[in-house]
Amino acid sequence: MDQESPIEALDAIARSVDEAFAAARDDNDLRQVTARFTGRDGSLTKIMKRIPELPGPERKPFGQRVNEVKGLVERAQSNAAERLRSEARARELSRPALDITLPGRRPRIGRIHPCMRTMHEIIDVFTSLGFDVAEGPEVELAENNFDRLGFPPDHPAMDMHDSFFLPSRRPGDRVLLRTHTSTVQVREMLSHPPPVQAIMPGAVFRRDDDATHSPMFFQLEGLMVDEGITLSNLRGALEAFLTRLFGAGVKTRFRASYFPFVEPGAEMDVECLICGGRDPHCRVCKGTGWLEILGCGMVHPVVFESVGYDPERYRGFAFGMGIDRLTMLRYGINDIRHLFENDVRFLGSL
Ligand SMILES: [Zn+2]
Repeated sequence: MDQESPIEALDAIARSVDEAFAAARDDNDLRQVTARFTGRDGSLTKIMKRIPELPGPERKPFGQRVNEVKGLVERAQSNAAERLRSEARARELSRPALDITLPGRRPRIGRIHPCMRTMHEIIDVFTSLGFDVAEGPEVELAENNFDRLGFPPDHPAMDMHDSFFLPSRRPGDRVLLRTHTSTVQVREMLSHPPPVQAIMPGAVFRRDDDATHSPMFFQLEGLMVDEGITLSNLRGALEAFLTRLFGAGVKTRFRASYFPFVEPGAEMDVECLICGGRDPHCRVCKGTGWLEILGCGMVHPVVFESVGYDPERYRGFAFGMGIDRLTMLRYGINDIRHLFENDVRFLGSL
């Protein structure tokens, strides 16, 4: 067998090409078969090393013959590749057809977050009562957030622990994430002469994080300033609002309270929406029969002075409420964090 001449060996290789490629069943086979002929240890590569066995005049024609056989290998390889492609296509076509009568997957449709739903409803009520909607930046000067609202310099909210202070670009500026939307009241009054009648919805930020406090929550404040505004205007506007939100006949009450920027100040309660004041063990009102809804009062003259309004001539009222708290009351949610954990199963159930 090893006496076979290089020429006989080459002829044997040439005869084996077609059969070898015909046996290839996939791309991997194809690579292996090709390597058997023209790879580093392939038969055609090795046979070139036998050229010295041939007499001089036969060497050049032998080299040409080797190249011809390499050409055969190339053609056989590309034919086999084409055969494998059409076999794959035939297999694809012989599979069962796609069943287009199967029902499709229903796309999940989003909806408005319960806090935003509550806020939009409250905005609708107040705009129908003639209030404009005013907005302002969430990053504020401490001057607008505290000083102009008459906060005494030692007020605990000014402590670093209760507010998110930020580095400021201009030396001397104290900059923070606003702790209430009252900053927008200040901006409204600084930019408009009286009369003013506007609500200010928006996100506010405090260093709080427990079952009833979130570091970010939503407030909506309102402000009405004109000549001759009295406490009865305040009460009338808020009762109209609560009746629209909770239905006719809802009972409300004022309780005296303290806020730095109003005098007098009050909190407004509605009767418990869950037990109507009849369940001494009610978890929502804790048996009191009342729910705190908002804080309000007549704007303090100090505030008017700080924004350039004449406190002798103008009177005004202001109020503020937590949208998240109202949302919790409406939907009977006992932990504010549920509203911000963004569990779609929970939010979708509201
Ligand atoms: Zn109750």
